[in-house]
Amino acid sequence: MNKSKNLKNKIQANQAPGENTLSIHNERSFAEATGSVMPPIFTTSTFSHGNKEGFDYTRSGNPNFQILENVLNSIEKSKYTTVFASGVSAVTAIVSSLKSGDTVLCEENLYGCTVRLFEEVFKKFGVKTESVDFSNKNSFDLIRENRFSLIWIESPTNPLLKIIDIRKICEEAKKVKIPVVVDNTFCTALIQKPLELGASLSLTSTTKYINGHSDALGGSISTNNKEWNKKLKFAQKSLGLQPSPFDTWLITRGIKTLPLRLEKQVNNAFRLASLLSGNKSINSLRYPFDPYHPHINVAKSQMKSGGAIITANLKGSKKNIFYFCKNLRYFTLAESLGGIESLVCHPATMTHASVSSEVKLKLGINDSLVRFSIGCEDFEDLKFDLIEGLKNLS
Ligand SMILES: *Cc1c(COP(=O)(O)O)cnc(C)c1O
Repeated sequence: MNKSKNLKNKIQANQAPGENTLSIHNERSFAEATGSVMPPIFTTSTFSHGNKEGFDYTRSGNPNFQILENVLNSIEKSKYTTVFASGVSAVTAIVSSLKSGDTVLCEENLYGCTVRLFEEVFKKFGVKTESVDFSNKNSFDLIRENRFSLIWIESPTNPLLKIIDIRKICEEAKKVKIPVVVDNTFCTALIQKPLELGASLSLTSTTKYINGHSDALGGSISTNNKEWNKKLKFAQKSLGLQPSPFDTWLITRGIKTLPLRLEKQVNNAFRLASLLSGNKSINSLRYPFDPYHPHINVAKSQMKSGGAIITANLKGSKKNIFYFCKNLRYFTLAESLGGIESLVCHPATMTHASVSSEVKLKLGINDSLVRFSIGCEDFEDLKFDLIEGLKNLS
C-alpha cells in the first residue's frame, strides 16, 4: 500500500501531466467524501451563510463553476479563469470594465456578434472602437499612438482565417501598456495559448470546441493578472453573466474529450483542405496550415495545428451555392462550429448578417464564401459528401 502510494507521488513529482490528463482530471469534485468519480451538479441558488468554502449565492460562484475554472486554468496555464453564460457574456464582462470615452482598437474581421455588441450596445454608453487589419504590419503604428484602452484580436479570424501575429502585437502593446484580449475560440488553449504569447486576457466561447457537443452555451476568460480577475469576477456577479451549474457540468464533461476530438477534427480538416484545394468548383480555399496560406509562417509560430475550420470561395451562382450547402449529407447548414458533427455556414447571410454590406464587401465576405466546421466523422464520408456536392455545383 505504502509502496504504491510512494510510486504515485514519485510520478507526480517528476512529470508535469500532459494535456489529455489535465483535461480529464479535475483538481477536486467537491464530493471527495463520497468517492464519486464525476462531480455532482450543484443545482442551488444559495448557500448557507458562513460555509467552509465561502460560497454565498450562485450568481457569484458555485462549485461547478470552480471545477470548470480549474480545468481551464490547467490547460491555459493561467492563474485565474472566470466562466460565463456564453461567449457573448464573456465579451460583455470585459467591455463593461471600460468607461465612456475609452476606445478599443479592434481587428477589422471580428466575430459578428462581438461587432454588434460594440456597435449597437456599448457605443450608446460612449465606448468607441476603431478597426484595423492587424495582418498588415502598418497597423502597429496605430498601437504606438497610445490612444487605446484595449486591443481586441481574434486569430484565425472568422470566417476568413487570417492569421494575426499575436506575439508581435502583444510586444507593441506592452510598450505602451495596453492590455490585449485574444478571442481564442477557433483554437482553444490546446492549439494556441494567448497568455504565453503575451496577451492579458484569453477569451473562449466554450460553446464551441471546449464543450464540443452542441448542447450547452458558455464562455470563459483566463488571465494571470489579479486585477483583471477581480474585474471579471465583479462583472460576473454584478451584471448577472454567470452560467448555470448544469451547463458548466456539461462543459466539464465535454472538455475531457477535447484533446481526442480535436486530434480527429484537425486531421480530417488538414486532409480535406489538401484534397479540396485543387477542386475545379473552388476559386480559393483558406486553411491556416495550407502551404499556400499567405500567413503560414505566423500560423506555424503560434499554433500547434491548423485547427478544424476551412473557408472556401466557391464557383457558381448564389442559388447553386445555397443548394450545395443545404444538400450535403453530413454537414448541417447551421451557425456555430467546433462540435463533433460537421457544419457548413454561409457567413454573408448567417454569422455576419448583422455586419453592414459595405464592411462585408471590404473584408471579402461575399455570397460565394462558405465556412466548413469539420467534425469527427470518418474522413472518407466527409470527402465523398463534399466531392459529390461540388460536382453538382458547376
Ligand atoms: C461563437 C463565438 C462567440 C460567441 O460565443 P457564444 O457562446 O455563442 O455567445 C465569440 N467569439 C467567437 C470567435 C465565436 O465563434
